[in-house]
Amino acid sequence: MVLHGTMEQGDRLIQGMAEGGDFRILAAGTTRTVDTARELLDLAPVATDALGRALTGSILMARLLDKNVKHQYVTLRFEGDGPLGVMIAEANVAGAARGWVANPVPLDETLDVSRAIGRGLLTVVRGTPPAGKPYTSQIELKGSGVAQELTRYLARSEQMSSAVLLGVLNRRRGVAAAGGILIQAFPHASADSVERIEQRIKEAPPLSTLLEKMPIEDVVAAVFHGCHYKQIDSSFNVALSYSCSCSRERALAPLQLFAPDELREMVAQGGSEVVCQFCGRKYRFSAGDLLALNAKPDA
Ligand SMILES: [Zn+2]
Repeated sequence: MVLHGTMEQGDRLIQGMAEGGDFRILAAGTTRTVDTARELLDLAPVATDALGRALTGSILMARLLDKNVKHQYVTLRFEGDGPLGVMIAEANVAGAARGWVANPVPLDETLDVSRAIGRGLLTVVRGTPPAGKPYTSQIELKGSGVAQELTRYLARSEQMSSAVLLGVLNRRRGVAAAGGILIQAFPHASADSVERIEQRIKEAPPLSTLLEKMPIEDVVAAVFHGCHYKQIDSSFNVALSYSCSCSRERALAPLQLFAPDELREMVAQGGSEVVCQFCGRKYRFSAGDLLALNAKPDA
């Protein structure tokens, strides 16, 4: 599936270690993924900034789960009181991400990401389909920015000493750079190495400005200069993309919840169309398709 020839230019997740194995580093260059989201969902710049960070965060967090489970995913649901409304970002361990913003074009163009999302609730769902029950947990959204909220989530819910850095840079023609780094301290990390890493994180220039100038490999090396950073073999890289797992069957599922008279109404109108909120794909159901639904005894 992975096209190795295009890996060099395309979005990718890389993995590494720092401070002689005291830290695990995951990093993702997501410029194309975020720009695809912007295009498909008609996102205003601040919505691109917000969802781009959330998508990158979900990609990094999906990789934190047990690597042996093939289909695991992470869903981040931001329910803040800011003008963007509900925002969803979802990614799986294979590097496919998708998202949605309730109000992708807020009226106030001066908003920053924190205010655009606002305060409220962040729900994190981790699942490993088809088997296994999804694991859900929630924290309060404090209006502090996506990276800070996710760092707090990891500390509280996963009891993991870690930090998340995220960046999106918009230019007039679209997303010029996007990406993120997730740093995870192992329990055996020494106080000295924790201090060095924290210092580097503090001193790091905004991630998006680095990402615009250099590939993700060099960005991470620059941020962790002097911390014995080493990337693990690039054959462990994961190709990233904005891609939706919707299907005709899944689009039909919500129609099954309609009452028989509502279905008859749609039949009278000659059918129905369902538009996927994540990718805009349209699924057209004829009167015949709907009649078949209606005929089901449990509908
Ligand atoms: Zn879709």
